[in-house]
Amino acid sequence: MIQMRKPQKQLQQPAELEDILQRGEVLRLALCREDQPYLVPLNYVYHAGRIYMHTGHEGYKHWFLAANPRACFEVTVDAAAVPAPLPCKWDYRYRSVIGFGRVSVVQEEAERQEGLAALVGRFAGPGAPEMTAEALARACVLRLDIESMTGKANCI
Ligand SMILES: Cc1cc2nc3c(=O)[nH]c(=O)nc-3n(C[C@H](O)[C@H](O)[C@H](O)COP(=O)(O)OP(=O)(O)OC[C@H]3O[C@@H](n4cnc5c(N)ncnc54)[C@H](O)[C@@H]3O)c2cc1C
Repeated sequence: MIQMRKPQKQLQQPAELEDILQRGEVLRLALCREDQPYLVPLNYVYHAGRIYMHTGHEGYKHWFLAANPRACFEVTVDAAAVPAPLPCKWDYRYRSVIGFGRVSVVQEEAERQEGLAALVGRFAGPGAPEMTAEALARACVLRLDIESMTGKANCI
C-alpha cells in the first residue's frame, strides 16, 4: 500500500474507501497525452467494484483516452471548513480517495445497460423512469477499472 506522509490521516480499511466512492457524486478524472495533462469532472457511480461514467462520444477526453487509457482520479465527501478563533487555526474537514486505473469505453450491450442503470439509480433513485432505447444508444459509457487507491480523512 502507498504510505502517506501523515499516516494518522490515512484510511486503512477498504470499506472506508468504498464508502467514500459510494457517497461521492463528482469524480475528477485526470488524463495525460504525451506531456499534456487534462482533468475533467464527471458524475459517476461505484458499482460492482468499478466506476461507471457516461458522456458523449467525442471531445477532449476521448482524444486523451485514445492515446493513453491510464488515469488518476479523485473523489471527496464531507468537505467543510472548520472555523477556529484564530484565522491561522482554521482547518478543512474532508474524506477523500485518490486512485489509479484504466478507462475503457464499454462496448458490450448488457454492461452498457447495467452501468447506465446504476448511474440513473444513483442519482434519480429507484423510482426513476427506464431509459429509452434511443437514449441508451446515444450514451457513451466509460468504465474505470481501479488498480490502486488510497483514502485520507482530515478533521474527522
Ligand atoms: C460537477 C460536474 C459534473 C459533470 N458531470 C458530467 C457527466 O456525468 N458526464 C459528462 O459528459 N460531462 C459531465 N460534466 C461536464 C464535463 O466536465 C465536461 O465538460 C464534458 O464531459 C465535456 O468533456 P470533453 O473532454 O469532451 O470536453 P470538450 O467538450 O471536448 O471541451 C474541451 C475543452 O473545454 C474545456 N472544458 C471541458 N469541460 C470543462 C468544464 N467542466 N469546465 C471548464 N472547462 C471545460 C477543456 O479545458 C478543453 O479546453 C460535468 C461537469 C461538472 C462541473
